[in-house]
Amino acid sequence: MRLRNIKGARDVIAESPLVVHEPEKRKGKWKEVFGNDHPIRIEIGMGKGKFLYELAGKNPQINYIGIEKYSSVLLRALQKMEVQPLENLLFIRMDAEEILEVFGTEEVERIYLNFSDPWPKDRHAKRRLPSKEFLSRYDQFLQKDGMLEFKTDNRKLFDFAVGELSAAGWETVNITYDLHHDSEMAEGNVMTEYEEKFSSQGNPIYKYIIKR
Ligand code: SAM
Repeated sequence: MRLRNIKGARDVIAESPLVVHEPEKRKGKWKEVFGNDHPIRIEIGMGKGKFLYELAGKNPQINYIGIEKYSSVLLRALQKMEVQPLENLLFIRMDAEEILEVFGTEEVERIYLNFSDPWPKDRHAKRRLPSKEFLSRYDQFLQKDGMLEFKTDNRKLFDFAVGELSAAGWETVNITYDLHHDSEMAEGNVMTEYEEKFSSQGNPIYKYIIKR
């Protein structure tokens, strides 16, 4: 997702109390940031934030952090929050390549990847957020019993992601090749922006939940 460069997006983000600036200074101290002991869940590549905003509204006992690379996209999430801010939802603008600078051992209870960019060229496979390279990063800050949930409508990316698991030391807890017709996995499903768009076009949604 790359919105047109929106003038002033960086300034709005720099001044927003909903965005954690210099997040690397919070490594190991995220509970202090929220001021409570609630579990922390993150979405990497959040886009405009619909999924997390809805989840955070439904689950006030869980803290959420949305990570997005582009200011112009993050700005849209901030605009959503202006209508009704939520105390348990914060944002970081950064490239997930640097995620190990930001989260320490066992700081995160769950990771969400939704409709991650496919990076179709083989030589870019390491940039895919469910790649084994990223899985080994997640391994370093996800709680021992923590889980990762990944949804996409891109079959090639999904097959790739499934193929990465065992080499990286992860295993499937649950998997579906048609989320919206899988009554067990669809229970409580919160749709993302991309999920709404692609499922309305008739595309099946693939999802796995994994652990180490
Ligand atoms: N998750 C949202 C959804 O399902 O509607 C947005 C999906 S969109 C295809 C992927 C988003 O991930 C884009 O907003 C993109 O900027 C962001 N993204 C891609 N790679 C990223 C990275 N390495 N770090 C942070 N954000 C990233």
